[in-house]
Amino acid sequence: MKKVLILGGTADAVRIAQSMSGNAHVLYSLAGRTREPNLPDCRIHTGGFGGADGLAAYIAENNIDALLDATHPYAATMATNAAAACQKAEIPGAKYLRPAWRAEEADNWIAAKDYEEAARLLSDMGDRVFLSTGSQNLAAFAIQKDKFFLIRAVEPPETIPFDIYSLFLARGPFERSGETMLLSKYDIQVVVSKNSGGPLAAKLLAARDRKTPVIMIDRPEPPEGDLIESEEGVIDWLAGT
Ligand code: NAP
Repeated sequence: MKKVLILGGTADAVRIAQSMSGNAHVLYSLAGRTREPNLPDCRIHTGGFGGADGLAAYIAENNIDALLDATHPYAATMATNAAAACQKAEIPGAKYLRPAWRAEEADNWIAAKDYEEAARLLSDMGDRVFLSTGSQNLAAFAIQKDKFFLIRAVEPPETIPFDIYSLFLARGPFERSGETMLLSKYDIQVVVSKNSGGPLAAKLLAARDRKTPVIMIDRPEPPEGDLIESEEGVIDWLAGT
């Protein structure tokens, strides 16, 4: 059986690791920032590897045959390091990247190329913002001194650079009705979101229902190399390595 390292930290990665474990020896790694993470039933590595060189060394020491980067689409540093480490260690590697969400006619999405642009775009929008992008990157939005921010994150942010805000700690998935109630309760006028992809998030359905505009932050460019868009594709990739 091949030994496969899956870089995880997402619900998709846990599912992929579980489904692959009948066909391969799976090692699953996560950054270690989340308390009580969901884990697959296999060998777990917690914490960073020390950049691309550290990861290449880990691959060699553990006789890894192939690497699947199944980290979140916005985990850009890990994706770049994974591609470089596979080259260095001379093993096949691929990035699992589920297809991005696409707006429908009933949606009012405004594209932002990054967090900073999203923050600038808020100047021309409502004063009550649902910042649903997690506990990191809040600093970019500190330029909006007079806005109210509803922050939702799994882990508490290290610092919150706003004067007017509510912090709501929760882990998805969420329900459409609950998200609609949340937007109404806080009188949200604009939602800021990453384009995580997969089944359309309930917050976006709620925004559609309420005709609330959404600032959608573009995905970072994926690294060069094999991209896999479906969980079935992962099994085919593994068979072909
Ligand atoms: P990142 O900026 O790309 O990575 C920063 C560093 O964290 C990496 O250089 C690596 O440290 C370590 N790291 C990241 N993922 C790792 C993994 N699966 N196993 C071992 N080390 C890992 O990543 P991020 O955006 O902070 O995300 C961190 C984790 O949260 C990822 O596992 C990702 O799947 C998950 N996540 C992220 C988001 C998001 O929006 N970014 C959303 C949901 C879940 P070294 O350089 O020391 O190896």
